[in-house]
Amino acid sequence: MAELLPPYGGTLVSLYDDWEEEPAHVMPVGENTIQIIGALASGALSPLKGFMDRETCRSVVEEMRLPGGLPFPYPILLPAPPFFARRLRPGEPVGLQDTQGNPVALLQVDDVFAFDGRWDPLLGSEDIFLPAPSHMFLGGTLKVARRLWAGDEPASMRELFLRRGARKLAGKALRDPLFRDTEYLLRLVLEEEDGVLLLLYDDDSFGLPNRVRAEGMRRVLQSYFPPRRVEVVGKPWWPLGGHVRKALLSAVVLKNYGCQRILYLPDDVGEDGVPGGKGGKAYRLLESWLPHFTRPLEVDPFLSWQVYFCDGCGQLTTSRTCPHGPLEKVMMNRERLGRLLQAGVTPPPQYVRPELARYLLGWTRGGTGKGG
Ligand SMILES: [Zn+2]
Repeated sequence: MAELLPPYGGTLVSLYDDWEEEPAHVMPVGENTIQIIGALASGALSPLKGFMDRETCRSVVEEMRLPGGLPFPYPILLPAPPFFARRLRPGEPVGLQDTQGNPVALLQVDDVFAFDGRWDPLLGSEDIFLPAPSHMFLGGTLKVARRLWAGDEPASMRELFLRRGARKLAGKALRDPLFRDTEYLLRLVLEEEDGVLLLLYDDDSFGLPNRVRAEGMRRVLQSYFPPRRVEVVGKPWWPLGGHVRKALLSAVVLKNYGCQRILYLPDDVGEDGVPGGKGGKAYRLLESWLPHFTRPLEVDPFLSWQVYFCDGCGQLTTSRTCPHGPLEKVMMNRERLGRLLQAGVTPPPQYVRPELARYLLGWTRGGTGKGG
């Protein structure tokens, strides 16, 4: 039977399990950590089965690979308050609870550590998921109590696309609602591939909550794409872009969802590129790192040049196919788009579909999302 691309490491990890052990200690965890636990539990981070220990963290930070040799770009860590961490001994089970006291997971602690190295600049300096290396961290495997991502898990998305007869998928992690640069890219790949998976990640996107961005995407998809070819994973999700390592992590996650073609735009490494270029320094760095990942991941990345609207061409394009000069390019970047939305001004249709613009403006004006 035909299959989609296999998960990283060959098997889709599932950490859903009941436990009998009485936790020796209990630690409350915040929403960000719960999202990462959801990702680990559902296999989105296969082959990881829990939070990284010191050696794994060192290997990933310094060598971009797991101790077993598989390339891996980003440390997945569980910070713990120092006074709590110091009481723990390896081998002890720790119960992780949400802030209301409901059990979320059981961590079999096998390491308690502070990382004595440094985060490199590729990780970025303002990453809420990555406290300072001097922090205390708990490493160990997880058992997870309940399905945190029901319906949006890699297994269910794979099943959905397989039922539709899809065999080769493209995927893209993105933070913004579906603007036309991304739409252009989706159209290009849908000419060839069976489907596209969009993975919404949680990042500052014009102050729009995840559910609003996900709904904005669906409105564009409903009006401008054939049904059942593009799906959105809209669960709250941690940053999968903005920096080179996070952009690489998105390739790991998308592979676990079955995507073979991994789509990038310069914005994925925080570069709102200049029309006419491919992207800047970080984008070139991503391009130079990707070959280390493509063979083990069996993926085929597509780094698009900056997409812009050209009056001369009469359409969205890139300087790969457009011969015109700067006067014919309709300039737009994220910052300007953000200012327009905040000021209640409809962005140009060359960049934002009217359905999406109405929805977003309605939301920013009234907070209701009913359009205005
Ligand atoms: Zn042109």
